[in-house]
Amino acid sequence: MSKYIATRAMRGASALVNETEAMLQKALAEKGPDCKVAFPNTAYYLPTIFGMTGTAVETLGQLPPILKHARSLLHPLPSDKHWTPYLGETLDSGMATLLAAETLEAIRFVYGLQPEPMPGLKLAGGTSFTSPDAGNGQQGTDGGHLNGPIDDIRLRSWGIQLVDGRMPGFAAIVGCAKSNEVAVKIVRELQRRSILTFLSGNVNGRSIIHQLQEEGVELGYDTFTVPFGTDTLSAIYALGFATRSALTFGGMKGGMPREILNYNKDRVFAFVLALGEVDDLKYAAAAGAINFGFPVIADTVIPEILPTGVTTYEHVVSMPFNEIGGKDDMERAEQLVQKCIEVRGVKVKVSNVPVPVPYGSAFEGEVVRKTDMRIEFGGKHTRCFEFLHMTDLDAITDGKVEVVGPTFENIPAQGHMDMGIVVEVAGRKMQTDFEPVLERQIHYFVNGASGIQHIGQRDIAWIRISNNAADKGFNLEHFGKILHARFHADFGAIVDKVQVTIYTDPAKHAEWLAKAREGYDFRNRRLADLTDDKVEEFYSCTLCQSFAPNHVCVVSPERLGLCGAYNWLDCKASFSINPTGPNKPIKLGSPIDTKKGYWSGTNDYAKIGSHDVVQEVAMYSIMENPMTACGCFECIVMLIPEANGVMVVSREDTSMTPAGMTFSTLAGVAGGGQQTPGVMGVGKYYLISPKFITADGGFKRVVWMSGTLKESMAEEFKAVAIREGDPDLIDKIADDKSVSTVEELLAWMEEHNHPALTMDPIF
Ligand code: SF4
Ligand code: ZN
Repeated sequence: MSKYIATRAMRGASALVNETEAMLQKALAEKGPDCKVAFPNTAYYLPTIFGMTGTAVETLGQLPPILKHARSLLHPLPSDKHWTPYLGETLDSGMATLLAAETLEAIRFVYGLQPEPMPGLKLAGGTSFTSPDAGNGQQGTDGGHLNGPIDDIRLRSWGIQLVDGRMPGFAAIVGCAKSNEVAVKIVRELQRRSILTFLSGNVNGRSIIHQLQEEGVELGYDTFTVPFGTDTLSAIYALGFATRSALTFGGMKGGMPREILNYNKDRVFAFVLALGEVDDLKYAAAAGAINFGFPVIADTVIPEILPTGVTTYEHVVSMPFNEIGGKDDMERAEQLVQKCIEVRGVKVKVSNVPVPVPYGSAFEGEVVRKTDMRIEFGGKHTRCFEFLHMTDLDAITDGKVEVVGPTFENIPAQGHMDMGIVVEVAGRKMQTDFEPVLERQIHYFVNGASGIQHIGQRDIAWIRISNNAADKGFNLEHFGKILHARFHADFGAIVDKVQVTIYTDPAKHAEWLAKAREGYDFRNRRLADLTDDKVEEFYSCTLCQSFAPNHVCVVSPERLGLCGAYNWLDCKASFSINPTGPNKPIKLGSPIDTKKGYWSGTNDYAKIGSHDVVQEVAMYSIMENPMTACGCFECIVMLIPEANGVMVVSREDTSMTPAGMTFSTLAGVAGGGQQTPGVMGVGKYYLISPKFITADGGFKRVVWMSGTLKESMAEEFKAVAIREGDPDLIDKIADDKSVSTVEELLAWMEEHNHPALTMDPIF
């Protein structure tokens, strides 16, 4: 045990407690004891204080006892006489530091000094999720300030990932790297391993946050990088996050410090990376982190603390840049990250994907804005599709990637072209049922490449390549390389061979698009034979909880997921491939109301799956307990009260609807995982299901529909009209070509004698 570290940590803690006491006195005098204190959008009060002491602090007046407690944890500085080689007093200083730091941050919120301003900063993925349908460049916060504490929505989605292992751990970086290049390298190495990175602190006023911002590294929730603040104190949010994880997922209560600290030591794979000179306050904060079992790795010369049992391995490790050994700084940065992972024992799964850009799930949420774009496939101007199908084992060559047609070399900057991605897979355990499940993965696999954005699926895929990625040499072939590597890595259990063909040649594109559509239709139609009353279980889909944390799709044979990509068979197959994945069977249990679509099993599941936000869900109603939506819906169904019916807007439709809103605006109303009677996001094939809003009158309630939808599904709708006993029904439904206001709609309905006019009132 280093006396040097003990001395510096104790000195840092003592100075901070003094400073905080002074600030608190001032705040109490200026704002009064009843002045409210809180971190925005977070539960558990001031979380570290709540976890460690059990005090639910809500006002300034409750803080003096906290500081008194912090002061009691301070010990006299070690002298030659008074010195024990144990960690205890250092750990106490660390705890005192955390209590004081959180108090000080709370006071800063009272004075509006937090979150810290940072002009020009735009964080990727703000606290409010924006639907991808709303177009590009709209995700993110308004910008202009650092993150401050992580809000609860994020905590929940990340916490689950940290717990189930998808996210191996988090790194709290404090300070400033040797150079901007080193800063970028360290963060990229962490992102590559899907390690969540918290950024705080500075050295002589310069923070790693400045370095990353200067280098144009996209920071924010979506890229797994959270800039808390440019001072050391803001590192408290990392430990607050750790405390809240234990309270949220570990079932602990406030005032259970031992349990909370042990939970973190055992389950949360986190470490502190101290970059640049370590001052007293940083030593003190590091001592705080060690309480949580988080080791501290420094890139400068500091004394080490070897294992004593508080952390799993070493407590403090020094790895100065000039001693690490590699040839250049980049290599050393990589070794530094490697060392952190070893010391903490983080289990990391890196997919080795041969592409010239960084690759990892940390890049999945990256947005490629139009101005940064080299080229796009799909979207407004062109058609991009993806199709995966199985073949015989000897019909394909594993790893073969072929581009049929021109590359994008001759397409001008920010241009567009048609593309089709056809993936052929073979394996002894492969089944046709698994095709759609594997195909859906293309979205995640392609998105993992930095500078590549993928939206949608099937024949409405939309892919962008950024200038940056193109400059680094990313080309069409790399889509194939990614898919080959990832299908082997993630689905090795069922896939033995993967071959990919990219079609840009117009004739071949058209030919394969037709084949792909046949394939999609085939999958959709297989369901036609299956009805809800023939099965004993539905399936859940929680795939979208990564961003809509309380949303669950309940998928039945006659109601597919609202994104259109998951039907009952898909979920069943997905469950058999991965029983701990996002699709689980929901036993129906006893029927409660089969007209509206209530079963004991679906209701029970709705509560659990939505984390108690939704209490009941009616499978066949839009007016009563409708299913929630994330943001991926193919269509929005919305009540038009004046018309005694509903309209259906397709995501491809940009026109004005009779509700006075376009699809993009409506998407904001429909999404977010809330139940909103009268509004529902649906997969387009649910429209033709015999179970489409049957509780509210069924398909005859549709009074208006996007023209594109009417045309593209003309055949299917025709069949529905006959089924509903009104063969001319489709012609009675208005569309965007004829009607764009409620007045026009009512006139149209009168003129065409729409059945909704004489139906029972919808509510
Ligand atoms: Fe699953 Fe529903 Fe998301 Fe589709 S929209 S991926 S069915 S949760
Ligand atoms: Zn979704």
